[in-house]
Formats: sequence, structure tokens, C-alpha cells
Amino acid sequence: MTVGVLGGGQLGRMLALAGYTLGQRFVFLEPAKDPCAGHVGEVRVGAYDDEERLQELARKSVVVTYEFENVPVASARFLNELVPVFPPPRALEVSQDRLVEKEFFRSLGIPVPAFAPVSSRADLEAAASALGLPLVVKTRRFGYDGKGQWVLRAPGDVARAWDALEAASLVVEALVPFDRELSILGVRGKNGETRFYPLVENVHRDGILRTSTPKSAAWTPELQARAEGWAKRVLDELDYVGVLAIELFMVGEELLVNEMAPRVHNSGHWTIEGAETSQFENHIRAVVGLPLGSTRMVGVSAMLNVIGRMPSREAVLAVDGAHLHAYGKEGAPGRKIGHVTVRAETLAELEAKVGQLAPILDPIEPQL
Ligand code: AMP
Repeated sequence: MTVGVLGGGQLGRMLALAGYTLGQRFVFLEPAKDPCAGHVGEVRVGAYDDEERLQELARKSVVVTYEFENVPVASARFLNELVPVFPPPRALEVSQDRLVEKEFFRSLGIPVPAFAPVSSRADLEAAASALGLPLVVKTRRFGYDGKGQWVLRAPGDVARAWDALEAASLVVEALVPFDRELSILGVRGKNGETRFYPLVENVHRDGILRTSTPKSAAWTPELQARAEGWAKRVLDELDYVGVLAIELFMVGEELLVNEMAPRVHNSGHWTIEGAETSQFENHIRAVVGLPLGSTRMVGVSAMLNVIGRMPSREAVLAVDGAHLHAYGKEGAPGRKIGHVTVRAETLAELEAKVGQLAPILDPIEPQL
């Protein structure tokens, strides 16, 4: 049985690595030549809206999924006429537009930062006086890793930002003075069964995820239940199949939802060694209609991203409990080219191991 995947990056690569043990094969449609998923599966190079390529992908696959949330919704719908596409194209549609996404969360009673749509300078000025400063202005579409965002702190920033903006389809939201950033990953099967991984604490630098720690010091059963309840509402409303990630801000004891990703997620990479069933395996199980696996943690773990340059493999692997995942990509500033998951039996032991790994991976120390 072959699974078709839109996108051929590291997420596709790790989906295939997990799916092969279940006897699946993989074919990727990817616009770039020589993507890293091609080291572990067949690649068809083509645009996401190339109908011939989409038809070919549908012919070769029993189900199609995606590892990149900016594939055109029209392509997912086109494919869905030929072969089942999971997660459902509506999940893509909602997550691709920050305004639609926030309205969707609000309609489900899920708290989000105060926000307003902006399509003119007058809208921006009105939003600044209605919501107050500081604010974040974001493009509605195609933002990722903090790209396409501006923070407005002083009244003069409003005019300056508008002059600098190239897009007129924007959303502004209150700048949340968060204490922590968290994410919840859930998976839903074709029969509607859901499972959730423990809340993960995420540390970003320069808009890029650096470390993810499941069940960090901030974790409580009540927080977990709250986040799971919201994720379940989203999964059920979308009649979702596969893994979904929701990013949250924690302010004091309050949680607010930032955004969602209808795919496997960087903050779930720790699950490969740190959970009974990885997010990648559970995504494949869900989309091909197999029973979901346990999301129970195995020991305690942390994930550190490898950004820019590959560290010495010898040095990383000399740390007991460290697992290196190199994506086979060329290094470049700001580029995610691998990750390390480190596992331990106690939090104190884990902290010591993260302390050993941090200077090997990055001269600036990531924090737990
Ligand atoms: P996003 O692309 O929306 O995930 O934003 C990238 C990062 O910018 C987030 O992980 C936060 O660190 C920060 N950020 C985004 N929106 C807000 C907000 N409303 N308040 C504070 N920080 C934000």
C-alpha cells in the first residue's frame, strides 16, 4: 500500500521512516529537486497545482496526506475527488488564513488573543485604538516561523508599519505577554477515536523553534485537560483524520490559542524515542485506518533542533540517551537540518544531559 504525500521535506521523510515498519510505501510530490524525503521514498518533482502530477499521485496512492500546510486547498480538493485525502482539505483551508483560523477557534469557544482584520490604513489605526498597543500585525496567509509579522509598540509605529507593509490582507492581534509557549498534539482516527500527547513547552529564538520539552515544569493535569478539550473540539468539528498540532500561549494560569498546524509538528519530534508511539507512526496509522497507538511517555525527554550547521555526530552520540536525527539537508543559516532527542529517567538527569548537548549544538545555550 502506497501513501502519497504532498511535500518532501523532513516531515515527509520521518513519516516514511515510521510507515515502512508498518509495510507502507511512499511517494512524494515536491516542487524542489532532490528533497530529503527522496532518500527514503519515490519523489515526483512537480508543482502542487500540476493536475497531471496530482492525477499520477492519486493513481499510485491508496490515501494522500500532506506534510506542508501551504499546499493549495484547490489541489487537496482536486485529489480528494480521486483518492481520500487526510487530514481533510477543510483543515488546510482554516489553517492557511490566520483570520479564518481565529474566527474558527472563537466559534468553538476556544480563547484566542484579541484580534481584528485589517485591509486599509484606517482599519489599522482603528484596530490600534480599539485593541490598544502593543500589537502584532501579521499577514493573513503564508506566514511561518515569525515571517510576515511586525510588532507595533508606539503610536508612530502604526503609520511606519503601514508604509512598510506590502500586503493589504492582514490581521492584528494583541501582543500577549506570555510566560511560556506550549503545544498540544492530538491524533484522530477514521472511527473518531482520539489520543493526545502530553503538553510540550517550546522555546523559540529568532522565530525558530529551538527546544521542546514534554511535561515540563509547567505541566499540570488541569492544563492538560483544558488543552485536550480544545484540541478535541477542533478534531471533531473538522472530522479530522491524522495528527494535529495546536500552539498555545500561557500567561499566568491562562491559556490562549495562537495557531494550529494540520500535520505532524516539530514540537512532536521527541515522540520518536520519548513516546510509546511516535506522532509519525500515529499519523500513518490514522490515515490508513489502523488502530491508534498509545501516546504514553517513555521516561522523560527533550528535543533540541539542529539549526544551520551539523554538529559533530561523535560528540552528540557520546551523550548517553541522545538520539541524532540528521535530515540529509545542506546546512544554511537559520535552516532546520536535524534534531536531537535526549531521554532520561528523571528530570534532573535530563537537565544535565541537555546541559551537555546545548554547547555541542549551539554556542547559545537553549533552556529547558
Ligand atoms: P506564529 O507565526 O503566529 O506562530 O508566530 C511566531 C512566534 O511569534 C510565536 O511563536 C510567538 O513567539 C510570537 N507571537 C506570535 N503572535 C504573538 C502574539 N499575539 N503575542 C506574542 N507573541 C506572539
